[in-house]
Amino acid sequence: MAKSFAAFAVAGLIGVGLASAQSPAEMEKHIAAARLAAGSDHVGLFDRICAEGRTVGTPRGGGAGRGAAGAGRRGGGPPPPPPPRESWHAEPAKVFDNLYYVGMTEYSAWAVTTKEGIILIDAIYDYSVEDEVDGGLRKLGLNPADIKYVLISHAHLDHAGGAKFLQEKYGARIMMSAADWDLLDQQNPPWKPKRDMVVTDGQQLTLGETTLTMYVTPGHTMGTVSSVVPVFDNGRRHIAAAWGGTAFNFGPDKARLQTYAASATRFRDIVAKAGADVLIANHTDFDGTKRKIPALAQRKPGTPHPYVIGPDAVQRYVTVANECAQAAVAALP
Ligand SMILES: [Zn+2]
Repeated sequence: MAKSFAAFAVAGLIGVGLASAQSPAEMEKHIAAARLAAGSDHVGLFDRICAEGRTVGTPRGGGAGRGAAGAGRRGGGPPPPPPPRESWHAEPAKVFDNLYYVGMTEYSAWAVTTKEGIILIDAIYDYSVEDEVDGGLRKLGLNPADIKYVLISHAHLDHAGGAKFLQEKYGARIMMSAADWDLLDQQNPPWKPKRDMVVTDGQQLTLGETTLTMYVTPGHTMGTVSSVVPVFDNGRRHIAAAWGGTAFNFGPDKARLQTYAASATRFRDIVAKAGADVLIANHTDFDGTKRKIPALAQRKPGTPHPYVIGPDAVQRYVTVANECAQAAVAALP
């Protein structure tokens, strides 16, 4: 699996590399393709990353200054105090028979429940994990001590900051790719969990009756993990896709953007083959969680589930990520 991806990534780099010099026309072509793929349902994603892609080559572009999402608090000094709770707290919600939202207003954490315990996808911030994940699961009638695994999509503070708390309080196993464990070791933030399980490309995680499949999709970080998760709506099976890292907040790094684009091409094929018809993201602006959770609360029996968007829409989401990355490549000299 890893080997075939390496071959693919090289092919992707060569393919994208042909259009080497900065090309406004090429950039606009990819932005137009991304806009088309976004339709009306992925505007949040398009607005964020295609705008970022357009400006990636300019001094203020690329989102490199988004320190809050960075893995480390650089520059020394004490860490900034956590923001006030009213600025980030969201109520937990049941989304599928076996999937619960326990994230914040902007940053998501998803609990997959099984007969043998809970798999948590992302651990949000160090300051919010106890409130949202620990407290949220209790509010939902679940037991946070049942968290067996915490799958970290990537080693940035907004998704990995709470892992240490869950590791220390509940003995939860923390899962991250090797590259992102290494990233944490290099940056050594105070919220770093002890190195634990290493996710490999194509690896499956089975707990009880549920099997998740994880893919290493480098780009946003070099060890970003995307996953495919079976979920059930009143007993009806669906497949959820989670693209593990989205923004181009690593600066004007052409090779990195090409790697990102190749990962997106590959993950689009994976979700197509898996028949994924549900999208879950780790930022609420990207998957429409701010609309969809309130919509779920109003849902009448027998009506469509707001998170079931269909295979075409799931694939279009990944296409937006791919095309915006290619636009960013074209924007660079
Ligand atoms: Zn990130």
